[in-house]
Amino acid sequence: MDILVLNCGSSSLKFAVIDTGEGEVLLSGLAERLAGPEALVSWRRGDAEKERRAIAGGDHAAAMKVVVEVLREHGLQDELRGVGHRVVHGGERFKASVVIDESVVAEIEKCVPLAPLHNPANLVGIRAGRAMLGELTEVAVFDTAFHQAMPKHAYLYPVPYELYSEHGVRRYGFHGTSHRFVARRAAKILGKPLEETALITAHLGNGCSAAAVLGGRSIDTTMGLTPLEGLVMGTRSGDVDPALHGFLKDQLGWDVERTTKVLNKESGLLGISGKSNDMRTLEEAAAAGDERAVLAIEVFCYRLAKAIGALAVPLGRIDALVFTGGIGENSAPIRAKVLGHLGVLGFALDPERNDGLARGSQGPVTQDGSSTALVVPTNEEWMIALDTAELVEATS
Ligand code: AMP
Repeated sequence: MDILVLNCGSSSLKFAVIDTGEGEVLLSGLAERLAGPEALVSWRRGDAEKERRAIAGGDHAAAMKVVVEVLREHGLQDELRGVGHRVVHGGERFKASVVIDESVVAEIEKCVPLAPLHNPANLVGIRAGRAMLGELTEVAVFDTAFHQAMPKHAYLYPVPYELYSEHGVRRYGFHGTSHRFVARRAAKILGKPLEETALITAHLGNGCSAAAVLGGRSIDTTMGLTPLEGLVMGTRSGDVDPALHGFLKDQLGWDVERTTKVLNKESGLLGISGKSNDMRTLEEAAAAGDERAVLAIEVFCYRLAKAIGALAVPLGRIDALVFTGGIGENSAPIRAKVLGHLGVLGFALDPERNDGLARGSQGPVTQDGSSTALVVPTNEEWMIALDTAELVEATS
């Protein structure tokens, strides 16, 4: 079934037509710098050359119009059966993907305080989609939904309970679509029904999170109320002492906004290295002897390994640790370093397997007889398309 997948940011709109059978991308593109003078839509049909259309000043609605035109020109529009929207925050209301109607839009609006940058952009995409493709079933797929299976003792913060019950202050977790996708694939690789697997999934890209997935359900994860909690990321700090805001106010006069900005945009790999948020760049710098790059990589791997150790607790056993995301899929040195910290959990690296894994391929990187670590390329668009197709079928 052909599904249009939309991922809307504040000034961008990513789109892809996916054939759900094998996840083939029939056409994909990006509208960027929206509402500015350089607004542009670019797309690629299969392996063909990239095409571009300028839409100076065009907003999301104008971009959607171009997307529909492009789909028509490529003979794809008539084949479309549904539209899947990535939505960042579904709060406690959405525990799975849903068909979008007015009440769903209203509930996504209620989650705006939890994701003030992302949900409004997602809603703009939903409205633009409904205006242009209203006759198709539209589905919302939430980054948070997969983690709604977490038990209360895993998602509650030890703060006054009313902050949870009255204001929704709790851990939600993100990257759910990716964790869910790779957990399914890992079960296939292991030759086990998903319901019988105990997995730790590590999504390591610009944003990073890990999850404990038992029987195909997330029972704990590293991100929290916001995607700032947990692991070291490209520019995000991950866990720090919650007293840091007060300390920096007293010592440097920084207000909450400034510290929050520093923790989100100037920390993580970038903060420690002072050089880059990009792991590839840091690996090159480290190889050339840059000490701060070496340190950034060390802190990244050490903290990740500690988090993986912590996620083993709720699982009780580990059938596989799954590496995914740009870093997890492509960086053999990072996988080797992380597994080097995890001998206590029975992991033993197989350097030949680890170094020999071709880009985009999946498979084990540990020795036979040791605990298993796998590389599984993620594919969030395909997962969104699969959810959408399932709901299209269920409602037709
Ligand atoms: P993503 O957000 O999933 O696209 O991942 C982006 C991150 O993956 C960046 O830090 C990239 O430097 C990193 N990355 C991609 N390819 C490689 C590679 N071959 N080696 C190391 N890091 C990589």
